[in-house]
Amino acid sequence: MKKIEIKKLVRPNVHSLNAYSAKEIPCKIKLDANESPYSAFSVQRLAFSVKKIFQTLNRYPDPEAKVLKGIIAKNINLKPENILLGNGSDELIYYLIATFGGPVLYPVPTFSIYGIISQALGEKGIAIKLDKEFDLNTDKILTAIKKLRPKLIFLSSPNNPTGNCFSSDKILKIIEVSRSIVVVDEAYQPFSSERGFLPLLRDYKNLVIMRTLSKIGLAGLRVGFLIADAGIIKEVNKVRLPFNINLLSQAIAAEALKNKRMMGRYISTIVSERERLFDELSEIKSIKPYPTEANFILFKVKNSDKACQKLLRRGVLVRNMKGVVNGCLRVTVGTKNENNSFLKALKEVIK
Ligand SMILES: *Cc1c(COP(=O)(O)O)cnc(C)c1O
Repeated sequence: MKKIEIKKLVRPNVHSLNAYSAKEIPCKIKLDANESPYSAFSVQRLAFSVKKIFQTLNRYPDPEAKVLKGIIAKNINLKPENILLGNGSDELIYYLIATFGGPVLYPVPTFSIYGIISQALGEKGIAIKLDKEFDLNTDKILTAIKKLRPKLIFLSSPNNPTGNCFSSDKILKIIEVSRSIVVVDEAYQPFSSERGFLPLLRDYKNLVIMRTLSKIGLAGLRVGFLIADAGIIKEVNKVRLPFNINLLSQAIAAEALKNKRMMGRYISTIVSERERLFDELSEIKSIKPYPTEANFILFKVKNSDKACQKLLRRGVLVRNMKGVVNGCLRVTVGTKNENNSFLKALKEVIK
């Protein structure tokens, strides 16, 4: 047989890339991926809404996802022309970089996907360290904007994995100075006490806001959306794959979003559990939790590798942030019982 060296066929930027690792680790209590502990869909709705859908599985879904887009637009008082849906916001990050190109600037530590997709598409990533408070280092960012002229800037606020919101003044300054696109990734906005950047959309043509249903109880559906000026949406829409939101996701997301009260209740439960969990963690001597506006808490622990392993042996899976924020673990806020089990296990582990 002919010998073919696959490695030599792969583009160098892809060959040197590590695949995003999202391993499924068996555990009793899963607090590693910032998911909601509550499925934001009431199964009673299945009977009258989704049954119909199964009869049309032979057809492609609506390529524009009009119904779902209409509901989302109405919820935020904007027009469908201001919205682009993605198969998760991950896909939208891909589309943004495919549309505008690089360099792509982002602070670190932050959501790793910005860097991974930049590299996958052969674009240069510019990573700028956050300051000691995990806030934006505006001096460094403004200098990089001037010198390197990034085409895209990604700011996750609240930031993953640190949990804090960046100062709005600093974000505003960056939007004002940048002559290209600034994406404020508001994946965790529903858990935050700050108002977010939606109200500023009208004032800044280069502002793009990214949201997702993943952290509010519908991660399995893979639905994220961009909110921006119609001119931006029109361009990004050109690189979108025609049927990127599947039939079931369109139907279930539309149905779930009608039940705003239930979603709101779940979110406030998570926020109050987060406050309790933060207080309890603060009480533990050798633990330092960092202030958070998201549905997770980053905390420092003496021996993070060991603590992580020992927690897993007790059935509790959290995320080890080794190599991202050294010495830190990230725990997702779960149900009251899950959080209690986590606290109990953690206290045993660090003894
Ligand atoms: C989880 C997360 C996302 C990914 O959302 P999906 O819609 O599930 O792809 C985007 N941005 C940040 C900062 C996240 O933490």
